[in-house]
Amino acid sequence: MEKEITIIGGGFSSLSASCYLAKAGYKVVLLEKNSQVGGRARRLTKDGFTFDIGPTWYWMPDVFESFFKDFDKKPSDYYQLEKLNPAYRVYFGKSDFIDIPDNPEAIAELFEKNEKGSGAVLNKFLAKSADNYKIAINKLVYKPGVTPLELITKDTIVRLPLFFKSISKQIRGKFKSKKLQQIMEFPVLFLGAKPSNTPAFYNFMNYADFGLGTWHPKKGMYVVIEAMEDLAKSLGVEIMTNQNVEKIETANGSATSIIVNGKRRSFDLLLSGADYAHTETLLDESSRGYSSKSWKKKTFAPSSLLFYVGFDKKIENIQHHTLFFDTDFEEHARTIYDEPCWPSEPMFYASFPSQTDSFAAPEGKEAATFLIPIAPGIEDTEELREKYFKIIIKRLEDLTDQKLEGSVLFKESFCINDFIKDYNSYKGNAYGLANTLLQTAFLRPKLKSKKVDNLFFTGQLTVPGPGVPPSLISGKVVAEQILKHLK
Ligand SMILES: Cc1cc2nc3c(=O)[nH]c(=O)nc-3n(C[C@H](O)[C@H](O)[C@H](O)COP(=O)(O)OP(=O)(O)OC[C@H]3O[C@@H](n4cnc5c(N)ncnc54)[C@H](O)[C@@H]3O)c2cc1C
Repeated sequence: MEKEITIIGGGFSSLSASCYLAKAGYKVVLLEKNSQVGGRARRLTKDGFTFDIGPTWYWMPDVFESFFKDFDKKPSDYYQLEKLNPAYRVYFGKSDFIDIPDNPEAIAELFEKNEKGSGAVLNKFLAKSADNYKIAINKLVYKPGVTPLELITKDTIVRLPLFFKSISKQIRGKFKSKKLQQIMEFPVLFLGAKPSNTPAFYNFMNYADFGLGTWHPKKGMYVVIEAMEDLAKSLGVEIMTNQNVEKIETANGSATSIIVNGKRRSFDLLLSGADYAHTETLLDESSRGYSSKSWKKKTFAPSSLLFYVGFDKKIENIQHHTLFFDTDFEEHARTIYDEPCWPSEPMFYASFPSQTDSFAAPEGKEAATFLIPIAPGIEDTEELREKYFKIIIKRLEDLTDQKLEGSVLFKESFCINDFIKDYNSYKGNAYGLANTLLQTAFLRPKLKSKKVDNLFFTGQLTVPGPGVPPSLISGKVVAEQILKHLK
């Protein structure tokens, strides 16, 4: 009889793994606790407005292409992509902003205008960062993190110093302008750690940013989830929503069954794409691979305070992606990583998808998502959310020189308590486990349970790390490990 693999969770990593496992001939059942699949990448619709609840930046298009190619498909079979130009806008003060163009030549010219000589420095830097990208994608990120030997190749050995120097130090050594430094440090924020705590090898993210560009899938990021859901179903995956997994039962070192909405289900192998720390709490303590103490010691990526806002008019002086870097980054980072508390002057990010995509808002109106990165695990109350909404609307008004408060049709918020309630996220983290030196590759939580023989994990707390492209990769890598195990 055909073996059954049950998958907990319906985020990017689970959907990715489900496709590979079904293609290999297994019966695959995917159980998601929420009413929609997508996990952190779900969609919110309200009064004619459409919002991506989580990811809004489509970076590394090659990873999506490679995923669909494994099933003889292309992204364009499912959704339409548009390269954004400008890719994004960064505000540094009132009416003081830089727009990042969609190609490296124009970006080098822009750098040169801001700091003499920096255009040539950037070109050299990007050539190296492109090499690192190729090495990372071709040789590292698809490795399962089983042994440190995976990291040792002739290309990585010569780059060893890049693993022990921070990206922040490297960038500050090359660019003197504070604005350019901030722009260059922005891409590593996706990895969930401070630039001063992220190895310089990750400068391949600068190539992802400037070299590969920022793309927008028409109708928003959720179309990628829909595409993967369609693909999974076409391969025979059974997808069930509103299925809360409450317990994993084991006997003799193997998982035998799970309790879902009070009912027992059995399987041959169990894969969890739900947050690793949560999944382990579904096991008896003796079957857990990591103690609660060890989770406490890890560096989690930030949580976020998010607002999804419908405005009754078009907003001026913004771009589809707009970053507000007009406050002290170091001070904000301190409140996330060093002394967890609410930032007094937060940096924030805003997405206005209706600037380029009419699907996001009714005509003449604007859809906006605001994101403030915050420390996981801090207090989250309605009063705090309200306080920060006022702060960012005021900042947006001042920096972009217009009145907006009276134009808010509605706002929905999402913060730590929602991350915990909706996704069982550890301390309400938004992007999983940060990619610091000590949490990279084989140092990340293992794909295969240390104690339960037929239990595997995937997702942003495992290899290779946070982000949509890494989640797609994580699903592929864990599927390969499972197929080896079942052989
Ligand atoms: C606000 C925000 C903005 C982001 N922006 C970007 C971006 O612009 N670009 C980018 O590339 N990445 C971005 N990311 C990161 C990216 O969204 C994540 O890395 C990725 O979606 C994680 O996928 P995953 O499969 O690991 O986990 P998840 O999406 O969390 O999936 C896990 C699933 O498991 C389910 N689950 C949990 N417990 C149970 C249970 N007991 N029973 C059943 N199901 C359960 C959850 O409901 C969830 O659906 C962002 C993330 C957030 C939160």
